[in-house]
Amino acid sequence: MTVQKKERHVLGLSGGRDSAALAIYMRHHHPELDIDYFFTDTGEELPEVYSYLLDLEARLGKPIVRLNPDRGFKFLLKKHNNFLPSPQARWCTIMLKLKPFEAWVKEMLDAGEKVYSYVAIRSDEEYRAGYISKDDNLVVKLPFKEDGIDKAGVMDLLNNAGLGLPKYYEWRSRSGCTFCFFQQKIEWLRLKERHPEAFKEAMGYEKLAVDGGSPFTWSQGESLAELCEPARVEQIKADHEKRIERLRSKVQENPLRDNDVLDINDLYGQSKVCLTCHK
Ligand code: SF4
Repeated sequence: MTVQKKERHVLGLSGGRDSAALAIYMRHHHPELDIDYFFTDTGEELPEVYSYLLDLEARLGKPIVRLNPDRGFKFLLKKHNNFLPSPQARWCTIMLKLKPFEAWVKEMLDAGEKVYSYVAIRSDEEYRAGYISKDDNLVVKLPFKEDGIDKAGVMDLLNNAGLGLPKYYEWRSRSGCTFCFFQQKIEWLRLKERHPEAFKEAMGYEKLAVDGGSPFTWSQGESLAELCEPARVEQIKADHEKRIERLRSKVQENPLRDNDVLDINDLYGQSKVCLTCHK
C-alpha cells in the first residue's frame, strides 16, 4: 500500500507587489489550502516593507513566518573581503534569501512531506530564473502564469483587497535591501532623499570596498559620491523624465484598464530584477 505524503504549501513574500497579490489570490481562490506564508528578512530592508507586511498579515488573517539568515550582511561582506555583491556575484541572494528558505523547507522534506512552493511570476513575464527545485518533493507552482494574471490583474487584486501598493512605490518600485545594486540611478537619488541614513550606510560599504581594491561600486561606472554631484543629479533626473515621456508616447491607453502603473521595469527593462528579492 502506498502511503500518501503529507502536503505542505508555502508562499514567499518579498514585501513586493506581485507576491502580496499572489497571497491574496491564493487566499481567495484556494481557501482549501493551508498555506504557510514566509518572508526572508535580510535585515537590510526598507521600513516600508515591514509595514506593508503587517497590513498584508491583517488581510490574510494569518501570521507571516519570518526567516532569518544565520549571518547578517555585515558579517558576509567582511567574509567577501568587503567586495560588494553585484549582478555577477550575487552572494547576497544566496546567503540572505535562498539559504534560509532551503533550511526551512529541508525540515519539511526530511519529515517526508511534499512541499508546493507558489511563486509570483505573472502571465506577462518570462520565467527565466527563480528557484529551481533540486528535490522531486519540492514542486514550484506559478499560479499567475497558469491563470493568466498580468500586471493589471495584480493591481486589481491589491486594490480590491484594500491593500494597494507598498508605500515605497511612491519613489521606488522594488522590495529588497535598501542598497540593492539592481537599483537604477534615479532610485539611488530617491533613497538619499527618503532614507538618508540608509544611503550614508551604503556609501560607507562602498568606500570600504573601493579602499580594499574592489573595482565595483554599487551603481555601475560611478561611486555614490559621484552620483550625488549636482550636475550628475540633474542629468540623471532629466534622463529619467525622457524615459517616462518616451514610454508614455508608446503606450496605448486602454479605457478598461486604468490601473496600469509605469514602474522601473517598464522604464529600464525587466532584466534588472531579482525574482527572489523583488517579487
Ligand atoms: S535585494 Fe538586492 S542586495 Fe538584497 S539580497 Fe536581493 S539582490 Fe542582494
